[in-house]
Amino acid sequence: MRDFAYKRNANDVSRNLMTWYMQSKRELPWRQTQDPYSIWVSEVMLQQTRVETVIPYWNRFVEQFPSLHALAEADEQTVLKLWEGLGYYSRARNLQAAVREVAASYGGVVPKTAAEFSKLPGVGPYTAGAVLSIAYNEALPAVDGNVFRVLSRIFLIQEDISKPKTRALFEGLAVSLIPPGIAGDFNQALMELGAVVCMPKNPNCTECPVQQQCMAFAEGMQRELPVKGKKSAPRLSPMYAVLLQRPDGKWAMRKRPDTGLLAKMWEFPTWSQHELSLEDYVEQLGITHKQVEKLQPVAQVDHIFSHLHWQVSVWMGQLIDNTAGDSDQQLIWLSTEEMEEKSLAAVHNKMKLLIKQREGGGASD
Ligand code: SF4
Repeated sequence: MRDFAYKRNANDVSRNLMTWYMQSKRELPWRQTQDPYSIWVSEVMLQQTRVETVIPYWNRFVEQFPSLHALAEADEQTVLKLWEGLGYYSRARNLQAAVREVAASYGGVVPKTAAEFSKLPGVGPYTAGAVLSIAYNEALPAVDGNVFRVLSRIFLIQEDISKPKTRALFEGLAVSLIPPGIAGDFNQALMELGAVVCMPKNPNCTECPVQQQCMAFAEGMQRELPVKGKKSAPRLSPMYAVLLQRPDGKWAMRKRPDTGLLAKMWEFPTWSQHELSLEDYVEQLGITHKQVEKLQPVAQVDHIFSHLHWQVSVWMGQLIDNTAGDSDQQLIWLSTEEMEEKSLAAVHNKMKLLIKQREGGGASD
C-alpha cells in the first residue's frame, strides 16, 4: 500500500463514511439492541447469508431463546430445527457449544477480550471483531467479504484476498481507520457501504459517500477489485437417495453421524453412487428385493455445498410389509407429520417435498 495516498485519504474516508452511515443506515432488528448475545446471534447468521433472509430467522431465534442461558440449555434438535433453511448448520452447533462454554466458564457474560472470545467454538477473527466492536465498542477490525471489497477499492489494494497473509494487511488498515470511541458504528458503516453501495458487480459510485477518496474510482478499476484467486469448482458427487414407504404410511429416515457434513441432521438414506449399487444398498438396509414394490426414479435433486456438488438420483419405493428394514438399527420410520418435527438439510427438504407432492396428488385422485 502507498503510505502517502493512504494518509491523505484515511481521515476523509472515516468522516464521510460515518456521516453517510448515521444518515442512511438500514433499521435492522439487531441494531436496536446492545445485548452482546443477540448481536452475536445476528453475526453468526449473517455469515454466508443475506440480510433479508436473516431477519425472520433472527426474530424467531431470539424470541425462542431470549438469553444466552436459554440457548445454552436448549435441546440441540430444537436449535437445528429453528435454523432449518439457513444452511451451514455447523454455525448453529458451534454457537450453541460456545454459549454453553460462556455459561459455564464466564458466568454467562460474553467475554470482552478478543483473546478469550476467539477461543470459543466457531469464533474466527471476523466474528470476534464484529461482535466485540458492536457490543462493547472494542477497537477491533471486522473484515468480511464486504470490507475486503470496499477497502481494496478505496485504497486500490491489489493483493490477492484469498491468501491468508492478505487478511493481516486489511485488518491493519481497517483498525487504523476506526475513529476513537465508535468502533461498532464504523465497522457497520464499512459493511453497509459494501452491502448497499459498493456492490460486487455494479458499484453505485455516483451515490457513494467516499467517491472523492476512492482510488479505484479515480483509476476506473472498481470492477477489477478485489483481486481474488480462483477457487476450484465444487467436486461433482453422484449420489443415490431412497424414499421408502411402509404399508402403514411411514417413511424410512435416519440421523446423520455426529461429525462431518450435515452432522446430526435427519435424512432419507443417501449414499455415494461410487459406494454401492441401488439394489445392494437397499439390501444392506435389511430390505430384500421381494419386499420392495415399484422402486423407481422420481427426480434428480442437485445441491451445492461449498466444496461439493451432490447430484442425487432419488428413487421411491413401496414396501409390502411393516417389518421390512427392522434389522437396521439406524432407520427410523416417520409419517410426514412426524418429519415436520425433525431438522432436515435443504437437500432432504427437497425430497420431503417430493413425498408431499405424491401424497397430495394421491389425496386428490
Ligand atoms: S466510489 Fe465506487 S468503487 Fe469506490 S468505494 Fe464508492 S462505490 Fe465503491
